Amino acid sequence: MTRFQAFRIHHDDAGHRAGLETMDTDALSPGEVLVKAAYSSVNYKDALAGTGKGRILRRYPLNGGIDVAGHVVASSDPAFKEGDAVLCTGSGLSETRDGGFAQYARLDARWTIPLPTGLGLRESMVIGTAGFTAALALLRMQDNRQTPDQGPIAISGASGGVGQLAIDIFSRAGYEVHAISGKPEHFDTLRALGAHACVDRHQLDFSGKPMDSARFGGALDTVGGSMLSGLLPLIHPYGNVALCGNAGGIAFDSTVMPFIIRGVSLLGVASAGTARDIRDTIWQHLASDWKPRQLARIATDEIALAQLPATFSRMLAGDAFGRTVVNHT
Ligand code: NDP
Repeated sequence: MTRFQAFRIHHDDAGHRAGLETMDTDALSPGEVLVKAAYSSVNYKDALAGTGKGRILRRYPLNGGIDVAGHVVASSDPAFKEGDAVLCTGSGLSETRDGGFAQYARLDARWTIPLPTGLGLRESMVIGTAGFTAALALLRMQDNRQTPDQGPIAISGASGGVGQLAIDIFSRAGYEVHAISGKPEHFDTLRALGAHACVDRHQLDFSGKPMDSARFGGALDTVGGSMLSGLLPLIHPYGNVALCGNAGGIAFDSTVMPFIIRGVSLLGVASAGTARDIRDTIWQHLASDWKPRQLARIATDEIALAQLPATFSRMLAGDAFGRTVVNHT
């Protein structure tokens, strides 16, 4: 039994509260693989869970943090041995079981990924759920026959974690990326990540018509709401819109026209419940041909566990820029 620090989230008759606490490894959710965490990262979902602004946890109390990477301390599953470098994203962390914002995490062996050759532990957490989600979107779009010659890919919420990693990953995979962002002051950085063009989200002139001139071969929408409504009429025939986010709202208006006239596909992207074989495929890509080239630039912040609440506030205000890595050492 080891005592350690964890960012623990409670919700009971006294309401929501969360903060650093000391706990024992014996008190962690059950699992086969005990990991000493080296790094985790902050995602929008973590901000919702940590502040109580979104109902992410399905039981309380739990340690926050949907991502974690570190070294195995003990394993009852022979697939893992002490000292192995591993990572885990989603898979119930900070939802149904204790998450990664702690010095130790006990993981389910089914969802524990050996760190792929070509990635460091810190790099894997700069990528984290955000990069995994961007890569899952690309995989789904390519499975549905998206090709670079269909036209540029619009990426909304481009300055956020998913957005920045998506710019890097999609451009590396050969697509011309058009970044849509509400932060024109960062357009130079978005171009440096691989964006061919940048569009100010506040200057978007969506017509509101059911169909408009096709402008994008496809899109990764991390915003949802009116952004999704506006993008669908602008997609070239048989292009795909991968949707992963809701920072801009959960409801959207559309008509059947983009779907029945242009054969546009709307693809849902749900990283948390991704099947193990698809996870393995994605992490292999992320460590090789889709490995983001600008991870150092994308990791804009490195914080300690105690600094999590300030980061949550920034994210929920829409002020996030790039990825925040949590250093547990
Ligand atoms: P970030 O907070 O890092 O980025 C979100 C970005 O969205 C902001 O930087 C901003 O970009 C834009 N944005 C924020 N608020 C608004 C708003 N009100 N209207 C329009 N745009 C807004 O979050 P992440 O990148 O981590 O996540 C992005 C979205 O994807 C979130 O909704 C998150 O919940 C979701 N997500 C979903 C996953 C899944 O599996 N489905 C997995 C991971 C994330 P800018 O200023 O550049 O426009």
